[in-house]
Order: sequence, then C-alpha cells, then structure tokens
Amino acid sequence: MKSTKRLTTAGEERSLASHLKESRSVIGEEVKLSESSDEEPCRCGGFYDISEADLDQIVDFALIDCAHCSLTLKVLA
Ligand SMILES: [Zn+2]
Repeated sequence: MKSTKRLTTAGEERSLASHLKESRSVIGEEVKLSESSDEEPCRCGGFYDISEADLDQIVDFALIDCAHCSLTLKVLA
C-alpha cells in the first residue's frame, strides 16, 4: 500500500481565502506597500500576516485578513 501524502500548505489556503473574501471584507486599515512590514499591527491587538507571495501578486492593492478578527488590511501598491 502506498503512503503518498497530499500536502496542502496553510499559506496557499490563506492566500486564496483572502482573495475570495474581498467583497465582504471590512477594511480596518490601509497602508502603502512601501511602508508596510511583514507584520502590520491590527487594532484588535493581533497582526496582519503579510506574505511575500501576497505582495508579489499586488496589481492595485491586496487585502490581508487579520489572524485574530474579521478586519482586513488593504495594502496599496
Ligand atoms: Zn484584528
């Protein structure tokens, strides 16, 4: 019996979700790409976890979900 495991990275799922949620996201904050860091603080005390993969896909802006609440960070290109 083969034991081939199918791995799904959390990063891929989160990245997809952040794009699908676009229409019902609540923008909590906006930052410019040039002024953003890997972990932008959220008003809830958590952080928006910004991955380089997300930043690479930015055309006009990217929406990053907070890991701890329903707010979304808008990163402007
Ligand atoms: Zn938050």
